[in-house]
Amino acid sequence: MTAKVIDGKAIAAALRADVATQVAAFRSATGRAPGLAVVLVGEDSASAVYVRAKGKATLEAGMASFEHKLVSNTPEADLLALVDQLNADPAVDGILVQLPLPPQIDATKVITRIDPDKDVDGFHPVNAGRLAIGLDGFVPCTPLGCLKLLRAELGDLSGKSAVVIGRSNIVGKPMALLLLGDSCTVTIAHSRTTDLPAVVRQADIVVAAVGRANMVKGEWLKPGATVIDVGINRTEAGLVGDVDFASASEVAGAITPVPGGVGPMTIACLIRNTFVSAARREGFRYEKQL
Ligand code: NAD
Repeated sequence: MTAKVIDGKAIAAALRADVATQVAAFRSATGRAPGLAVVLVGEDSASAVYVRAKGKATLEAGMASFEHKLVSNTPEADLLALVDQLNADPAVDGILVQLPLPPQIDATKVITRIDPDKDVDGFHPVNAGRLAIGLDGFVPCTPLGCLKLLRAELGDLSGKSAVVIGRSNIVGKPMALLLLGDSCTVTIAHSRTTDLPAVVRQADIVVAAVGRANMVKGEWLKPGATVIDVGINRTEAGLVGDVDFASASEVAGAITPVPGGVGPMTIACLIRNTFVSAARREGFRYEKQL
């Protein structure tokens, strides 16, 4: 069997186009554009690439982008003061502080300072709590993008057996909660899981978010499984995921490539969350399936 390759780029482009259409309606109704503020501290080159891509996608969707670049030795108090200023700014609907932050700054302090209703990254404990108990809030963009890919591929996920490999606050845990919300039977595997191949083999849906190049092998998979590869690993052979694509695509029913799978969905979901934030703040009605 050769798996269908899930086209994350195309699904992300469709989501961004949907958001752009609704942004246009929002602008004519309210007379302003939704705004995303992105804060970058220091010169980390990967972070700078992400911030540029986020700013570009924001503008392409018809939204306003406010970029704040701070030097790497910025004191924590200055960053917190900027967050306070953005929290109070009515033109700003979404605030994103790019991680990682330099060592003199406590990331938890910064994340918890962001107004939860502008926290479009979904990292604030209030939004983590809302997700856990099924209230509207903001869901982290990467797992939200994975859920959208799964729904696009499989439709109703109800009753499916899902294994999430990885338990980080940014990907694994929210991913598991989203799948539970869609009525999957969910297992979270992690670095202490015994016999990971046996755990993975019972899954209809596998989401790999580990950060280890080509770890999940084709022989671990249930034939026909849908595989979402979140991993981004730089190797001598270039960028690869956490799933061994060559062997997995012989067994899986459908699989995301790296690059071109989950990555484009992450940015599309950030744009989506920013629009949703603006819509909620203005009482603007939007298509809930967005
Ligand atoms: P993390 O390091 O915070 O978490 C990794 C998780 O993997 C941990 O919970 C750990 O328990 C688990 N793990 C480690 N070794 C394991 C093993 N041998 N077997 C089973 N589980 C093991 O990483 P993260 O932030 O969740 O990111 C995971 C991967 O996803 C990374 O490669 C990261 O670059 C990538 N990522 C991609 C995007 C995107 O937009 N595509 C976004 C975020 C993260």
